[in-house]
Amino acid sequence: MTPTIQGAVKSLGYAAGSLLTVTSLSVEDVAAILAATDRIERMADAERVRLLAGRRIALLFYESSTRTRTSFELAAKSLGAITTLVSDKSSSIEKGESLKDTGLTLRALGAECIILRHANSGAPYLLAKSTGLPVLNAGDGMHEHPSQALLDLRTILVRVPGLNAGRIDEKTLAGVTVVITGDILHSRVARSNAMLLPRLGARVLLCGPKELLPESALGLGAGVEIERDFDKALKQAQVAMMLRIQRERLAGLELDLGDYIARYQLNEERLAACAPGALVMHPGPMIRGLEISGEVADGPNSAIEEQVRHGLSVRTALLVRALSTGGFESVTV
Ligand code: ASP
Repeated sequence: MTPTIQGAVKSLGYAAGSLLTVTSLSVEDVAAILAATDRIERMADAERVRLLAGRRIALLFYESSTRTRTSFELAAKSLGAITTLVSDKSSSIEKGESLKDTGLTLRALGAECIILRHANSGAPYLLAKSTGLPVLNAGDGMHEHPSQALLDLRTILVRVPGLNAGRIDEKTLAGVTVVITGDILHSRVARSNAMLLPRLGARVLLCGPKELLPESALGLGAGVEIERDFDKALKQAQVAMMLRIQRERLAGLELDLGDYIARYQLNEERLAACAPGALVMHPGPMIRGLEISGEVADGPNSAIEEQVRHGLSVRTALLVRALSTGGFESVTV
């Protein structure tokens, strides 16, 4: 068996099947996750519901979420698992209980896997270490959102013409430029995508003003470039991924929104002039009229709802991966 970084993650003390960062996934791991996603999606409901029948999965959410939380929960239920949701708003977390103690409590109650969203970067590592359970990172601060990058990849593979979704390797996305625009600095979605997509051959162009896109973003790795002029960036795009300005993380930073909209909003005129064929993506929640116009969000180029549906499917595979000790091979999918 080829040693993978996933193996290294295991030997560092994190349970196999954890997904804390996209950097722990080899290209073969990505291929295996996408292949399992396809197989699980094709199964009859009655067959799918047996895959994790009766297994206990805890969703631990310290930050708001609509898509990620609901899709993980529905994915788990479609596999037959029992789920429980613990949110910081209505639990002993409000009384000051630590992440570690909350995790140990969930484990004592029989949780076999924890899906964690947390405002602090690195929190999923702490939880995985202290509980020994497989942990799926559902977004940690400004760090990563690995399952979002995988669902974005699947959306691109299905929607960008000419790609071979059945063959995942270092060249699968060769010739594809993905322009990620907006609040890159605070975006875990941008980080995970910028670290994953180039490994499959994509070129990632980051676009935004200096306040939201520091030069240090180039440290995300090979295949990542910065282009501050949105029109110039769009002219090279097969995919335009738009991001929300993360007000909750701006920490006093003042932005001239009128100027931002003029320079960076994806609207119909700009799309028609610069990238009429580009696939439009957004991880949500989107602020219509700010980073994206309603017409573009609802228009024919938009894959935004499809992204949500791919999220549900990809997360079924991540849950099966987390809870099957022998990897996907031990599960008849
Ligand atoms: N839903 C994404 C996240 O949790 C993007 C966002 O919040 O803007 O990171």
